[in-house]
Amino acid sequence: MHANNLPSRISGLAKMHLAVLGVVSILLAGDATGPAMADAFDDWVTRLWPEARALGVSRATFDAAFEDVRPDESIYESAGNQPEFVRPIWEYMGRAVSDQRVETGQEKIREFDSVLDAIEAVYGVDRTIVLAIWGMESNYGGHLGDKNVIEALATLGYSGRRQRFGRRQVLAALQILERRDITPELMTGSWAGAMGHTQFIPTTYNAYAVDFDGDGRRDIWQSIADALGSTANYLRVSGWQPGKPWGYEVKVPDNFDFTVMGTGRRAVSEWQRLGLRLPGGGALLHQADEADFILPSGAGGPAFLTLRNFRAILRYNNATAYALSVGHLSDRIGGAGNFTQSWPEDALPLTRSQKVELQQLLNGAGFPVGSADGVVGQQTRAGIRQYQRSVGLVPDGYASLPLLNRLKS
Ligand code: CA
Repeated sequence: MHANNLPSRISGLAKMHLAVLGVVSILLAGDATGPAMADAFDDWVTRLWPEARALGVSRATFDAAFEDVRPDESIYESAGNQPEFVRPIWEYMGRAVSDQRVETGQEKIREFDSVLDAIEAVYGVDRTIVLAIWGMESNYGGHLGDKNVIEALATLGYSGRRQRFGRRQVLAALQILERRDITPELMTGSWAGAMGHTQFIPTTYNAYAVDFDGDGRRDIWQSIADALGSTANYLRVSGWQPGKPWGYEVKVPDNFDFTVMGTGRRAVSEWQRLGLRLPGGGALLHQADEADFILPSGAGGPAFLTLRNFRAILRYNNATAYALSVGHLSDRIGGAGNFTQSWPEDALPLTRSQKVELQQLLNGAGFPVGSADGVVGQQTRAGIRQYQRSVGLVPDGYASLPLLNRLKS
């Protein structure tokens, strides 16, 4: 859903800072390049028209959509922002699954009881999951985003690193306007074009949004029924299995063979044979299903088996921290408690430049991880595990600060 992997909720102060930067750059650019840039943008819009027309967009819709639209400099600041510091998953989840968000979710379940009954009947997606996604995406409608979507996406499409994304999405947004699902003024969203209560980008909207309240329009901005129905439809089409959980926390035995990490998905019964149990010691659930075993913060933190429905949530936003937050928020809204295992708050995740350093050190020490790009993927985790085994550490593949310090010494 989001253009970034991790949905970054920019703080109010940071937003002000970005706004100030935007103003300064506009002032600096004003005399010399301002009018020229406007002309170039107009040319870009002119060249967009034949493509829009080929997709069935009328001239009237096109002109109304682009009336008073100008590149929004602040969006380039947001789009160019590659965060150096990644929040540890426990901080991310602490905010994502706050007591307040759990309580509000429980209130919303009561408030929208009949709509949620209908959604469960049609799509087979549990109400707590639908509520959890609503809570994660827009804080139950508290943060819908106030950018003009055409302007935001045209800005991205016109210039910068996300031109292909912006162009494709603005064309999809024009199709939404052509169908009169929403007016240009009311089609608002995030700087990356994530719209409404569900934060769908336009192509996702076109593929999955539904008119659940039956008024003829797919209105994810103002109709809670449409928004929640669209969320459930998206999950169902993404492979949601009715009656199954996203996954669950597991207990890892002291003698667990960590060499199985990174070897792929296995039947739950196989994980049971390898020693995993429920936190209380009981047998694992859904033994015939396939599951991934994940350690989001390494062997020192909580451990989980994730089932097929976890991957459906990842279709919404392809980040483990996000999907785990949706799953956990759903469970908490349904009355479950916190995870039994606490997070290893001394094992901080690495910054982007520390990840590059770690990768360079691993490559130099004969544990090849490919190019040192600061992204910890499968190859890097495999290299970390090799190194960990070679020095007698638990081979969990987790890129932590203690690991980096050990490699440096
Ligand atoms: Ca509707």
